[in-house]
Amino acid sequence: MPAETVKLTGKPVAEHLRENIKERVERLKGKNIVPAILIVRVGNKEDDVFYERSILKNCSLLGIQGRVKELSTNVSMEELTEVIEDANDDESIHGIMMFRPLPKHLDEKKILEKMNPKKDIDGMTPVNLEKVFEGDDSGFSPCTPSAVIEMLKYYDIPLEGSNVAVAGRSLVVGKPLAMLLLKENATVTICHSKTKNMGSVTSKADIVVAAIGKAKFMGREYFSQSSIVIDVGVNDDGTGKICGDVDYDKVLGQVKALTPPTGGVGTITTTILLEHAVKACEILTANRH
Ligand code: NAP
Repeated sequence: MPAETVKLTGKPVAEHLRENIKERVERLKGKNIVPAILIVRVGNKEDDVFYERSILKNCSLLGIQGRVKELSTNVSMEELTEVIEDANDDESIHGIMMFRPLPKHLDEKKILEKMNPKKDIDGMTPVNLEKVFEGDDSGFSPCTPSAVIEMLKYYDIPLEGSNVAVAGRSLVVGKPLAMLLLKENATVTICHSKTKNMGSVTSKADIVVAAIGKAKFMGREYFSQSSIVIDVGVNDDGTGKICGDVDYDKVLGQVKALTPPTGGVGTITTTILLEHAVKACEILTANRH
């Protein structure tokens, strides 16, 4: 049994990123530019409102202007498209973040196609996803996969040549993460719900990223004593408490390093979104002195 599992917490990673963001915001302010984002929220889902509050709080701490456009759940495609196109044209808005999934009557793909990729700080437009798959970092990659990469880099976990197993293949987490890891020269295996004996794959990897959305699904048998485990999962454990995809209590002490069920990757995600907002602002105002 390893003497102690290193706890990979997100807070120092986020703080490190924030220092850099603050310096860049100051530089922009020196040019009379205030980075600003528009959050587009359709409906009033509790999770969305909670995340929105956290984004706005972080905006004000970092000197970024956060605005919200709240729309009713029965908003039409035309109305939502107009909101996105107005934000595209508004020079005082540098980043747009739209909560998803949208209600079923709205065509999310079509809306994302309308969004200016240069303002897509959440990294979900086809142009930005294509860049992630091309290994081109001039665009914006989705925030959660980027948060995983920042976490690994902050803790000096080598990626080049490492075997990384990614459990989950969604377009929001698993797939783009696999591409970002490839860019870092890791050897990546993607697992999913049809993978046979996933534990035999993950337990051989140097690094395992869990992103399957199944409460405490991955126990000891999925890892080895040398595993570095990044748990992206955010689930209800059945008693109203948040838990990851990894069975934290059973795995702690059995692996080399592990993220906690709260205070892990999720802590970094909002900071990445705001780093993207500053990057968007820098690019969009590059010709202003
Ligand atoms: P998702 O769209 O539901 O995708 C889940 C993926 O896991 C799918 O690819 C699915 O495989 C795979 N999967 C499901 N059950 C499996 C099993 N038993 N064995 C192996 N693979 C399995 O979820 P997501 O949006 O990627 O999110 C994943 C988790 O991350 C969720 O808990 C979510 O709450 C969390 N999350 C966290 C953050 C953050 O900032 N911390 C952000 C986004 C998401 P198939 O493709 O075969 O169906």
